[in-house]
Amino acid sequence: MKAFEYARPQNLSQALEQGGTFKAGGVDLLSRMKRGTLSVKKLVDISALQDLRFAPVLKKGELWIGAGLPLARLLEAGPLLPQGIRQAAAGTATPQIRNQASLVGNLLQEKRCLYLLDPEISCLGNGGKGCPARDGHHAELAILEPSPCLAIQASNLAPILCALDARLFEFQGKDNLRSLRAFYQDWRKQGERPKLPLTHSIRIPAASLRGGSAHHEVRVKQSFDWAIATAAAHLVLDGDRVARASLWLGSVSDIPYQAKKVEQALQGKAPTDFKKALALLDSDFELHSPQQDWKRKMALLCAEKALRKSYDNAKEQR
Ligand SMILES: Cc1cc2nc3c(=O)[nH]c(=O)nc-3n(C[C@H](O)[C@H](O)[C@H](O)COP(=O)(O)OP(=O)(O)OC[C@H]3O[C@@H](n4cnc5c(N)ncnc54)[C@H](O)[C@@H]3O)c2cc1C
Ligand code: SF4
Repeated sequence: MKAFEYARPQNLSQALEQGGTFKAGGVDLLSRMKRGTLSVKKLVDISALQDLRFAPVLKKGELWIGAGLPLARLLEAGPLLPQGIRQAAAGTATPQIRNQASLVGNLLQEKRCLYLLDPEISCLGNGGKGCPARDGHHAELAILEPSPCLAIQASNLAPILCALDARLFEFQGKDNLRSLRAFYQDWRKQGERPKLPLTHSIRIPAASLRGGSAHHEVRVKQSFDWAIATAAAHLVLDGDRVARASLWLGSVSDIPYQAKKVEQALQGKAPTDFKKALALLDSDFELHSPQQDWKRKMALLCAEKALRKSYDNAKEQR
């Protein structure tokens, strides 16, 4: 690991004065630094700042959650926490990692591809040329809206928080709210993760707290590995039919994928129509090779399960 400066601010104003890379749990950041795929000039350790670690609370009709709250503590929240967020956090990594990993750190983790783990490999994903994965190992890489680099965003919390239209509340001279959906779009456009100012909390708008939500995932191995595919749904019902649907998939593209055609097709529909609506998602897949067909099937399965669980949850909430 290359030498770097280290600062441990004691409060928010000290943290805001520091220029450098913020470290929350350090699970993503430190593993990349140790591996030699990332070097930083200055690390600003914000992991102890209690102002960033507050549990979910209702304020002005919105749900606020501290950016630095470890996932294990998020799981201790009461019924205020939407089911989909609880399920996504519970499925993330191991209990030890959930004790360390923060909510916003999870959303900002780097994209995944096995070739990115090796500092000796240069490719499009780290500013070089070419993509060894295309003729090599790509079974778990992008299958929806693939860009020249097939690396995927594998955050468990990203699809559900996009489905709930969450905002990042930032300190930036003046306070600022940034849509999480727009943040990922910017990531895609810029080709690298937009540098964020210190993020204080996640805010979920009142409209997203109505209805029911759910997350479903499929893993090749056990909890210590990332999911092969995930899906998150949020449904608002009118009687027994869907009045509003939000469906997002994870680990299938460079950013969380919104299944817009399915969302539209679900309006006014009952669970017996879900399979027909999901056929529209099937037509969106762009596989690089038949190796990825299993991942396509798992993504469809996740989407269907997330929709059904979300529907049941919406009925229970009434
Ligand atoms: C074995 C293993 C299995 C895993 N399995 C899964 C899985 O199944 N699903 C999944 O989603 N993840 C998984 N992970 C990833 C893990 O959940 C993330 O690495 C972790 O959540 C990152 O959070 P952190 O607090 O440690 O972030 P850090 O590593 O501290 O930071 C990550 C990034 O976020 C930035 N950042 C953090 N907080 C702020 C803030 N408040 N304001 C501005 N910028 C900020 C940092 O600057 C950095 O760029 C796994 C990790 C391991 C090691
Ligand atoms: S998918 Fe992206 S990160 Fe992976 S080898 Fe290809 S260019 Fe590199």
